[in-house]
Amino acid sequence: MNQDFAARLLDWFDAHGRKDLPWQRPATSYRVWVSEIMLQQTQVATVIPYFTRFVARFPDVAALAAAPLDDVLGLWSGLGYYARARNLHRAAQQLVESHGGEFPDDSALVQALPGIGRSTAGAILSLSRGAPHAILDGNVKRVLARYHAVDGWPGKTDVARHLWQLAEQALPAERAGAYNQALMDLGATLCTRTRPRCETCPVQTGCVAFAAHTQEQYPGRRPAKPLPVRETCMLVLRDDSQGVLLERRAGSGRWGGLWSFPEFADRETALDWVAGEFGEAAQARELTPFRHTFSHFHFDVRPLLVSLQRLPTPVMEGAQRVWYNGGQPPGGLPRPVTKLLNELEFS
Ligand code: SF4
Repeated sequence: MNQDFAARLLDWFDAHGRKDLPWQRPATSYRVWVSEIMLQQTQVATVIPYFTRFVARFPDVAALAAAPLDDVLGLWSGLGYYARARNLHRAAQQLVESHGGEFPDDSALVQALPGIGRSTAGAILSLSRGAPHAILDGNVKRVLARYHAVDGWPGKTDVARHLWQLAEQALPAERAGAYNQALMDLGATLCTRTRPRCETCPVQTGCVAFAAHTQEQYPGRRPAKPLPVRETCMLVLRDDSQGVLLERRAGSGRWGGLWSFPEFADRETALDWVAGEFGEAAQARELTPFRHTFSHFHFDVRPLLVSLQRLPTPVMEGAQRVWYNGGQPPGGLPRPVTKLLNELEFS
């Protein structure tokens, strides 16, 4: 039955699969890798222009490894989930240092690189080299969960383990890359989250959820849990001659390595800091607060616009702070910062 499942899927792929995506021409391991990382949290249509710009600027592992992180984050601006870009950069450096700039054939070694899990390693090795490794991204989980009527949320360990077993069992010995692409294409084009087009599905015969009319019950939903809320006072410090103050955030946490407005617990702390660094502020005005939602929490931003009374001290702390006055940003910008800059007509 598994061979039959794979054979039907491959026949369908030959006739209807996607073969003209930018990362398929040519499907080198580097291009597949970049596309897989971008596609982890983002739709294909959004990814295409980002991917095209990214590989034009960094055509291979060596070019990416040699680039400043700011350039990488700059090209990632707007895609979100910036840990992906930082990991991509670090992984490229490790590939150069330890593997001569090439992906190793051993999946375990690929999975040892930052930001590459089992499914991404499987995609890189199968789509670029045809190596027989299974994948289990969101689309594949949906297809397999429906076809086999697998209960439970795939984020749970036992459910994921079951789906991986099914993915491994169905993998054909030949044409693993085309088969994996077919599974992803089926999930993206026919076995969609809502209203799957089962009437044209090549594996409709044998699909348990189709037979039971329960397609939309699979995969199981994440158990509902309200997201926690965090708050920040974002200081938009403005000087008429020099622009607004941006600082490069440290570390690998939220927006690490990106350029953002300084953040404080509240208005008073922000104004104390301004007074200490630059002298008294002439005006402080609260801008409209807004909410930015991350995967694990809501982030409530209360922007505080402060205009400086006198010229700011020219000495900034190394390269970690800049006065930005429109034009090319110093590096990657989080989406809420871009939004505020647009409102202030700085972009
Ligand atoms: S028959 Fe429908 S639910 Fe089953 S795999 Fe095909 S598209 Fe998905």
